[in-house]
Amino acid sequence: MKGYAMLKIGESGWIEKERPQCGPMDAICKPLAIAICTSDVHTLWEGAIGERHNMILGHECCAQVVEVGSMVKDFKPGDRVLVPAITPDWNSLEAQAGYSMHSGGMLAGWKFSNFKDGVFSEFFHVNDADGNLALLPSNISPVDACMLSDMVPTGFHGVELADVQFGDTVLVIGIGPVGLMSVAGANMRGASRIIAVGTRPNCVEAARDYGASDFISYKDGTIEDQVLALTDGKGVDKVVVAGGGCETFESAVKCLKPGGKIGNVNYLGSGTYVNIPRVEWGVGMGHKQINGGLMPGGRLRMEKLGSLVSAGKLDVHPLVSHVFEGWDHVEEALFLMRDKPKDLIKPVVKIED
Ligand code: NAD
Ligand code: ZN
Repeated sequence: MKGYAMLKIGESGWIEKERPQCGPMDAICKPLAIAICTSDVHTLWEGAIGERHNMILGHECCAQVVEVGSMVKDFKPGDRVLVPAITPDWNSLEAQAGYSMHSGGMLAGWKFSNFKDGVFSEFFHVNDADGNLALLPSNISPVDACMLSDMVPTGFHGVELADVQFGDTVLVIGIGPVGLMSVAGANMRGASRIIAVGTRPNCVEAARDYGASDFISYKDGTIEDQVLALTDGKGVDKVVVAGGGCETFESAVKCLKPGGKIGNVNYLGSGTYVNIPRVEWGVGMGHKQINGGLMPGGRLRMEKLGSLVSAGKLDVHPLVSHVFEGWDHVEEALFLMRDKPKDLIKPVVKIED
C-alpha cells in the first residue's frame, strides 16, 4: 500500500509499505477524508518528538472499516467511523488511573504518526476498535468529521483543563483551529467574556461567531499589558493556551487573577524550559494553576462530541478553509499547513464520499 511518510526530520514523501495486520481486538480502516495538523508540521519539520524514519504521517481522518479482528463486537467492514487522534489501550493502568492518553507511558496513547504509522495511507491500523472507534453520524460529512479527530477534542480539553465556569472571563491565546474550538467550548461552558489573541482575519471572524467578545494581537504589544488594560487591571479568571511558544506561559500567569487556572493544549515544539514569573505567580503562593494535557481519545468521547455536531449545537464547518480532492494533493495540503497563508485555517483532503 502507499503512504505519505516522514522519511526523516525535514524530509517527506510517498513510500510503499505492507498493509498492517489486524489483531483480534483491532480494525483495519481506509480513509474517506484526512486533515493536516499543525502537529504534523512540528513532528516533520521541527523534529519535536525526535527522529522518525519512514513513518507514515497523519492522525486526523474519517474512515471506513475494511477488516475487524475476531473479538471486535460493535464494528464490521463497511462501517463509516470517526477516528480519534488518540487511541488509548483501555486496559492499561494509566487508563484505569484516569489518564488514558498516557496509556503505556507519557503521551503513548498518541499512536498514529508517533509510535506507529499514521492515517495518510491507503489502509491504517486501529488498536482496540471497540474502545476507540465511533460510528459516523449520517448527517456529518467525512470532511467535517475530520475536525472531530483532534480539533474539537483538543480545543475542548483546553477548556476542561482551564476549568471554565459560568460567568468566567476567559483568555484564549492562539485562535488557529484548536483555539477556535476552545473559544466555542468556553462559550458553551458559560464564559461571560472571551478575549481572543489572534490576527488572521478569517480566524478572527470565526472566533467572533464562536463567541469571542474581545480581540487583541500579540503583535501590538505584550498580551498581559493588553489584557490588563481591557480588564481594568483585574486580569482574567481562566486562560487557554492554544498557540505561541514557551514564552506564552509568562504572559498567561501575568494575566491571571489569583486562584486562576491555565489550560494548555499547545504542543511546545522547541525550547528547553518554561519560565514562570515569580512575583506574578504570587511568589509561589498565588493559587495559579498550570495544567497541560494531551486530548482524551476513545469511543465515548468521540460519540459525545459527534453528537454535539450531529445535533447542530456545534458547527465545525467554518474550520475547513481548504478542501482538496484525492491522494495526489496530500503533499500540497501539508506544505500549506507549514506555510500558513493568511486565509488558512484547516486543509482537508477528500479521498472518497
Ligand atoms: P495554529 O498554528 O493554526 O494556531 C496557533 C495560533 O497561535 C496561530 O494563529 C498563531 O498566529 C498564534 N500564535 C503564534 N504565536 C503566538 C503568540 N506568541 N501568542 C499568541 N498567539 C500566537 O495551530 P493549531 O492547529 O490551532 O494548534 C494549536 C497547537 O495545539 C499546536 O501547537 C498543535 O500542535 C497543538 N495540538 C495539541 C494537541 C493536544 O492534544 N494537546 C492536539 C492537536 C494540536
Ligand atoms: Zn492533529
